[in-house]
Amino acid sequence: MPHITGSDIAGEVVAAAAPDVAIGRRVMLQPGVSCGRCEACLSGRDNECACYGVLGYTHHDGGYAELVKVPVANLIPIPDEIDFLRAAAFPLTFLTAWHMLMTRAGLNRGDDVLVLAAGSGVGQAAIQIACLHGARVFATAGSADKLARARALGAVEVIDHHRQDIAEEIKRLTNRRGVDVVIEHVGEATWAKSVRSLARGGRLVTCGATTGANGAINLNALFGKRLTIYGSYMGTKSELIRAARCLFAGQLKPVIDRTFPLHEAGYAHRRMEESEQFGKIVLEVP
Ligand code: ZN
Repeated sequence: MPHITGSDIAGEVVAAAAPDVAIGRRVMLQPGVSCGRCEACLSGRDNECACYGVLGYTHHDGGYAELVKVPVANLIPIPDEIDFLRAAAFPLTFLTAWHMLMTRAGLNRGDDVLVLAAGSGVGQAAIQIACLHGARVFATAGSADKLARARALGAVEVIDHHRQDIAEEIKRLTNRRGVDVVIEHVGEATWAKSVRSLARGGRLVTCGATTGANGAINLNALFGKRLTIYGSYMGTKSELIRAARCLFAGQLKPVIDRTFPLHEAGYAHRRMEESEQFGKIVLEVP
């Protein structure tokens, strides 16, 4: 009985090719699929594999299904107290945000972090991971309700990205210093403001371009402020296993917006396209 959020799936093992994987074992799935044989895979950087694909997204159709076939390496057993709903809402966005913050940006305790779009899957995960590791988090959202929910997740200050200038607010809130890390995935609509929000030596990490792929950058600011821009895509299998320990310990809690039965997937997509959701939408197979 899979529970599915796009590329994220949790359910029971119904058949297994490996002798140590029991039928009926409750698991969630690594969303990334790689060759397992190349230099990148064998160095633990499987998300840099030339064959890298994502379940239900690139090279691997069939995420919205009652039965899903995956390599054994993609199974992560889940403890009894973690229900399928939370397990299905966890992997992709928490893995993405973990890789952005911990590996790419090299987050330090005491860093100031700006998280764009707190109500998105990556946004709600990034706020929690940054707070867990001792950062001070600023977050943006587009409505009063979403701003309140961002605060509840741990953001100390929130910015309405429809009504306020993100960079000006960050300058005001940090005594004109700016933030050490920006978690960007919005793209053209926020790119210039995100770069302007960085402190000297700041790192901007981007994993998406929802509003458009073109972003200009002022080269004087890039070298003068010693800024670093990182691209980030998914994360490694080992990172997800490490992040999952925090899920199992109750330190990270995926935010679930609402659930739909699988046959109403179209309604779920419409809700997301209209930016009505806060957190993950989960499809359930009855
Ligand atoms: Zn590989």
